[in-house]
Amino acid sequence: MMVQGKRHTLSTTRHRLLVVSNRLPVSIKKDESGNMTAVPSSGGLVSALNPILSEYGGTWVGNTGFASNGESHDAEVRRLLTATTRGTSVRYLPVFLSTEEQTNFYEGFSNEILWPLFHDLQSRCNFAPRYWEFYQRVNQRFAAVSLKASQPGDVIWIQDYQLMDVGRLIRHKRPEGTLAFFMHIPFPAPDIFEKLPWRRQILESLLEHDLLGVQTPRDERNLVACIRTFLPSAEVEREHDYRRILYRSRQTRIQAFPISIDFQQFAHGAASPEVGRRAFEIRRQLNGIPIAIGIDRLDYTKGIPERLRAFARFLRDFPTTRGRISLYQVVVPSRENITGYRRLMHEIEQLVAHINGEYSQPGWVPIHYVHRSLPRKELLALYRAASLALITPLKDGMNLVSKEYCAARTENDGVLILSEFAGAAPELHRGALLVNPYDELGIAESLNRALAMEPQEQRRRMMRMRAWVRRHDIHNWRDSFFAALDGYSGAAAS
Ligand code: UDP
Repeated sequence: MMVQGKRHTLSTTRHRLLVVSNRLPVSIKKDESGNMTAVPSSGGLVSALNPILSEYGGTWVGNTGFASNGESHDAEVRRLLTATTRGTSVRYLPVFLSTEEQTNFYEGFSNEILWPLFHDLQSRCNFAPRYWEFYQRVNQRFAAVSLKASQPGDVIWIQDYQLMDVGRLIRHKRPEGTLAFFMHIPFPAPDIFEKLPWRRQILESLLEHDLLGVQTPRDERNLVACIRTFLPSAEVEREHDYRRILYRSRQTRIQAFPISIDFQQFAHGAASPEVGRRAFEIRRQLNGIPIAIGIDRLDYTKGIPERLRAFARFLRDFPTTRGRISLYQVVVPSRENITGYRRLMHEIEQLVAHINGEYSQPGWVPIHYVHRSLPRKELLALYRAASLALITPLKDGMNLVSKEYCAARTENDGVLILSEFAGAAPELHRGALLVNPYDELGIAESLNRALAMEPQEQRRRMMRMRAWVRRHDIHNWRDSFFAALDGYSGAAAS
């Protein structure tokens, strides 16, 4: 079919960029004396988008994680955000939510429905109808702030699963506007997605964007299969590395853009003398015993209890390895208001205590457990100090930690054991030892194999992974995404 229409060119020197995400890259915290401070947020989305916005300039719309508390409080938050970005070309614009909205939209619809469902864990879903009402209401709020903050020629780039309805609401007011969306989490196959009572509206909203980016070719296939199944009147055209969907006189380009990291920044940071000294100190404090690192936000999708059990299995089945390796597990606090997450934290703590109780020996503990967020330099020192990375999510949109570990291995040594269900797996499969995160025996065997791996094989594998991530870094991701948007118009001929 011939598609004609008004063409937009994305040249960020001429078009202003507006990024919309659930959370701003800073959170507002209040101390005991009532003083507010802005602290940087962690997580893959912020790590990826922060450098892009700092480079291009533009506006970032999002929530501060702090419930709205009256006019004067909100004004104070605005002042603090303005002060945070003073002297830069970036502006942070807050979307204020009440506690009730936060509970039902974020903890409810986003994290009790979409998050488990999109990670193939449907038995964890709670499909409460009121959550949907709040999801729409809060998406409406994000759309209103974004419209107010932007002009018709701007590029509006919406992020992630919490905001899938924003595009529809903006499109209504800006039929000719350039709208892009990037999904940071996996997209499920039709037989899982079909459980969502609001599946049709969600897909229709997504198709209001000109460009719809997902993480992997598998996510692209799943999304297109869902569109074919639930919107049978949509036409799907295959182009060489993307699909074009024609639906209700609009066209949307759907494409996989695996997100990445600033490779050079991680590699240079890791090679710095300061990080080197800290890595040396960590190794010395651990009596020179090698470590395997696990670094995750507290989340059931990260497969932490499963990993701990597999590590215990490894110690049981390969007793000669006891005292020769420890697991250094960092768990970054996350979503602590949600009951299931608190339960998960207790389960992890109990497992660590149990395994350490069973296997510890004088001078060696099997698992070092850290439950806090680490600053970048400490993280880099850990990457450098660790002979192994054990990254075994049950399902993950991408998993940047796996790419950061490779970037930080500037000596080309170390082994990455990676879940085959991480978005990074199809990119790193030629260097990593891939495992099924549900396969306790398989993980135990891979740990044993990694421990015995010859330096030449480590080097060959690590060099492949590093070369891949170096070439496919965050700049490459941004350029491919913007190039796909460049000159692309969603207004199809009817
Ligand atoms: N991270 C951090 N401090 C920590 C642990 C992790 O800043 O203590 C960062 C890490 O460098 C990475 C991000 O958090 O960039 C985690 O991204 P990933 O894609 O692995 O997982 P997500 O949290 O987005 O599910």
